[in-house]
Amino acid sequence: MTNDVLARREAALTILGQLVAFDTESSRSNLPLIDYIESYLSDLGVASLRLPNATGDKAALVASIGPTDRSGVCLSGHTDVVPVAGQSWTSDPFKLRVANGKAYGRGTADMKGFCAVALAHVPLFKATGLKTPIHLVFSYDEETTCLGVKEPIARMGRDMPAPRAVIVGEPTMMQAADAHKSVVIFNTDVSGTEAHSSKPELGASAIEGAVMLMSELYRIRDEMVARGDPSGRFSPPYTSIHIGEVLGGTARNIMARLCSFFWEFRGVPGLDTNEIPARLERHAREVVVPHLRANGSHADVKTVCEISVPGLAPDPGSAAESLALRLVGRNRAITVPYGSEAGHFQGAGLPTIVCGPGSIDQAHQPDEFITLEQIDVGCAFMRGLAEWCASGE
Ligand SMILES: [Zn+2]
Repeated sequence: MTNDVLARREAALTILGQLVAFDTESSRSNLPLIDYIESYLSDLGVASLRLPNATGDKAALVASIGPTDRSGVCLSGHTDVVPVAGQSWTSDPFKLRVANGKAYGRGTADMKGFCAVALAHVPLFKATGLKTPIHLVFSYDEETTCLGVKEPIARMGRDMPAPRAVIVGEPTMMQAADAHKSVVIFNTDVSGTEAHSSKPELGASAIEGAVMLMSELYRIRDEMVARGDPSGRFSPPYTSIHIGEVLGGTARNIMARLCSFFWEFRGVPGLDTNEIPARLERHAREVVVPHLRANGSHADVKTVCEISVPGLAPDPGSAAESLALRLVGRNRAITVPYGSEAGHFQGAGLPTIVCGPGSIDQAHQPDEFITLEQIDVGCAFMRGLAEWCASGE
């Protein structure tokens, strides 16, 4: 191993240690971490811009290296991590521990490892004389609503030239991933009218309404399974629908006034994300509510979309795919099983690929880690990117 590889690994690990030390669980402020990145960049002579959230307790950060009048390559990472509560860790999750060729700590794989590798190469990006600029985006709330990247995206093409390629550094073992499903999560509340169970004609059971709606969801689910996945890229090869939680009723002999259920779908590319909620809504309006209102005039159904993460549709031959495949030395893109911010970038018309160090198998787990080998592969990617951006190709 050359001294150069070791030096870059050390630089990335030093920054990773700093990033891991900030507890940026999505419920907490990420501002101390943003302060750190801001001053790190500023010490290198790189200006950055903060984009705070509505309450001011979190912020995204964007920075650019290279010419400001040309379309560049955007490296995007989220700064928040999932909680450690209830997990059994061998050591402090917020203190980087390097042992047996692995760096342990919350966020090392998902995805402070990528952020650290990118930041460690800012001096190289600066020194290389880029003809194509490199943009850095650090977002928040990815693990909850996936909306903390919307502001940085809104600037692209408005306050700066739209990037020609976006690389979202979620852990893919440094393979280029060009597809993932959408993830859309809902809460449906059914309200009825309470009555004694011996007098069903005096009430409307919210549980009955909920069961009718859940049956309809499973009917739609069967249809989605039959419809399948035209792209042939996903496992399972269809849009899945899942009901995860049902809450309702107060006593065995009372017709329930309220029943709520939480459900989601994970859609293959090409699925209109409005289709399933619109069909459920129509069933509620045309069948369930009239049925309940026969004996309970206040009966109603309300469905709220809580989280909507758009899918990433394959875009063969896109600038992002070509660049990423070239830099990772592969000739085919892969599919990933999780949602990411990539669909938001793609939805804004920006060619986007998911590619980052570490494995999703370790993400969200106790004793989360990234191997030093993956850090090295990530560093090689950044070096290749710097060379490509210097070539002005
Ligand atoms: Zn992530």
